[in-house]
Amino acid sequence: MAKRDYYEVLGLNKSATQDELKKSYRKLAMQYHPDRNPGNKEAEDKFKEAAEAYEVLSDADKRAKYDRFGHQAFQAGGGAGFGPQGFNDINDIFSAFGDIFGNGGSPFDDIFGGGRQRGRARSTGEPGSDLKLRLSLTLEEVAAGVEKKLKLKKYIQCESCSGNGAEKGSDHATCTTCKGAGEVRQVQKSVFGQFVNITACSACSGTGKTIKNPCKSCKGEGRIQGETTVKVNIPSGVSNGNYLTLRNQGNAGRRGGADGDLIILIEEERHAIFTREGNDILCDVEISIPEAILGTEIEISTLTGKAKLKIDAGTQSGKLLRFRQKGIPEYGSSRVGDQIIRVNVFIPKNLSSKEKELVKQIEHLEGFLPEQARNSPGGFFSRMKNVFS
Ligand SMILES: [Zn+2]
Ligand SMILES: [Zn+2]
Repeated sequence: MAKRDYYEVLGLNKSATQDELKKSYRKLAMQYHPDRNPGNKEAEDKFKEAAEAYEVLSDADKRAKYDRFGHQAFQAGGGAGFGPQGFNDINDIFSAFGDIFGNGGSPFDDIFGGGRQRGRARSTGEPGSDLKLRLSLTLEEVAAGVEKKLKLKKYIQCESCSGNGAEKGSDHATCTTCKGAGEVRQVQKSVFGQFVNITACSACSGTGKTIKNPCKSCKGEGRIQGETTVKVNIPSGVSNGNYLTLRNQGNAGRRGGADGDLIILIEEERHAIFTREGNDILCDVEISIPEAILGTEIEISTLTGKAKLKIDAGTQSGKLLRFRQKGIPEYGSSRVGDQIIRVNVFIPKNLSSKEKELVKQIEHLEGFLPEQARNSPGGFFSRMKNVFS
């Protein structure tokens, strides 16, 4: 497939500013993000394509080279350590999100220590793929943090051969295709001269060795399909859409290759009472008319159990009350959000005739009249009465 022009990929022309590049990339990245398009190969390709285009065009040096030489500038190692092969791993793209998504993207990069280090060690097999899963949490779990045990079906290392794929006592033979180097060199020509393109040897999966007697348990793969339980500590204050990356908890590699990662996408469950807004939580409570007039103390729900709430005498319907620090702790800080309570006065609809009699007794008491009626006697209020009686 011919490579598309990077500007075309981002839907921009050559004079596009850095800001326009960033905006356009962000839009495409959101649209084609693998987690929004699970199993959609085309979306994943588009996602990678956009990431690659942005990687080049957002760098002044690379952009200048690209403008002059086009895609050829980056082929076969010609582009100073950059190449499309840099985007083989979906997780590399997640880490490339760092600067463009700022704080909202992935605040978890440092939780499990360090950046991703998956250097191609010599003489090991193909790395295992990353596993991705969604984890839904209640608001209570988000507020307090929680430990989850996740059952996973994945490739695990074969115990019979300790992952190397050979039957016990059987030797490995040197791969004849790559003569034990584990890699194949190809010479390519480009406008910059000759370049050596090094790829992993497919005959031995880059290990440099072939197996004489493959392990019977795993048929020489060094891994088998299995099940495992992973314990995950979710810190408090996470949000919908956050990722957690657990290094080396994904699929085991082939024939001793590095393990993939486990990437957990956080999803918030809808709460029966609360709505989250940033780190604050919002809820409604209803009080009766006499309670609004006389004041009272009511019991309300919080994320950590029941609490008493004082209602002042003369509380108006729709009044907002704030419970300090009863919301969600901010991730990576000591700040805690608030619980905001909207007080609604319950207006009954179905009263017995006796109850209606009692309401009528207070109906014309001066203290019960809204101010506009008191200020213009016989005006607004009696007109309303004529309409409804
Ligand atoms: Zn085995
Ligand atoms: Zn080989």
